[in-house]
Amino acid sequence: MKPAPFRYLAPRTPLEACAALAAGEGNAKLLAGGQSLVPMLNFRLLEPAVLVDINRLPGLDTIEATADAIHIGALVRHRDVETSPLIAERLPVVAEALRHVAHFGVRNRGTIAGSLAHADPAAEWPMLARLLDATLTVQSTRGTRAVSAHDLCVAPLSTSLASDDLILRVTLPCPPAGTGWSFEEVSRRPGDFAMCAVAILIEREGPRCRSVRIALAGVGGTPVRARKAESTLADRTFDDAAAADAARATLDDCTPQTDLHGSAEYRMHLIEHLVRRGLAAAWQRAR
Ligand code: FAD
Repeated sequence: MKPAPFRYLAPRTPLEACAALAAGEGNAKLLAGGQSLVPMLNFRLLEPAVLVDINRLPGLDTIEATADAIHIGALVRHRDVETSPLIAERLPVVAEALRHVAHFGVRNRGTIAGSLAHADPAAEWPMLARLLDATLTVQSTRGTRAVSAHDLCVAPLSTSLASDDLILRVTLPCPPAGTGWSFEEVSRRPGDFAMCAVAILIEREGPRCRSVRIALAGVGGTPVRARKAESTLADRTFDDAAAADAARATLDDCTPQTDLHGSAEYRMHLIEHLVRRGLAAAWQRAR
């Protein structure tokens, strides 16, 4: 299928892009990598009157480091993050997760901001943003503000962003040196969206977990932080029994649905298994 007719705009500044969105009064869409938007246009699931192509906006394609965080511009492609030495060193869980995003072709075009704004509950970026307590810098015609990743995704393919909001960059705080990490995913075929994905960070103090973060994708309408499981493990000596308790507690925060890829019951089984495996792997890496 082909998209319905639309007007194409290619602004040169973020403010121009926001003004074009505002003028569209909810009937204009930003175009970044096009890897989610264009299929939706082709299937006529969306028929915006105006497409605002942000690929010519300057300064949004950099990955920068400060002492405690990495700042990724909205137009940075998945593949750039996957292959960045900076990301490999400071955020290895992100580098590993990005290898599971679609295929090379999609990763070469798709952007971090497009993925976050698209808010697929099975996608890796929204889950990683929750894991790392990320902050989005968002611009509109009303000014610039910070949006916490925890407030972003509100339902499948739905965010708290307004129709004239433009994500400029995403700030990912780096965990302390020595933090253990793991990423586990099961999908029907390599490159498919996750049936279940789990990302974990563990800070270790001798035999005890000082703190644990567990985020999941594909297990409900939005990415999930498994708070109950996290508190089950905090300050506890790590062993098989502790990991099993946390894996069971994770289920309380998950509401997977049955679909053509698998039943809710099977996904619950995956969650428990992957969390347990992921905890053991993260613990092994923690120093
Ligand atoms: P676009 O498609 O251009 O836009 C997506 C949405 O974001 C639109 O609503 C657009 O208006 C909005 N948007 C874009 N940029 C901004 C911005 N700066 N500020 C505010 N809103 C913005 N993703 C995964 O995570 N895991 C997968 O396994 C996976 N598999 C895929 C397989 C296939 C075959 C395909 C086609 C896609 C797959 N994707 C997967 C999606 C892919 O990651 C997309 O790149 C991503 O979801 C959207 O990024 P984009 O830059 O292409 O955004």
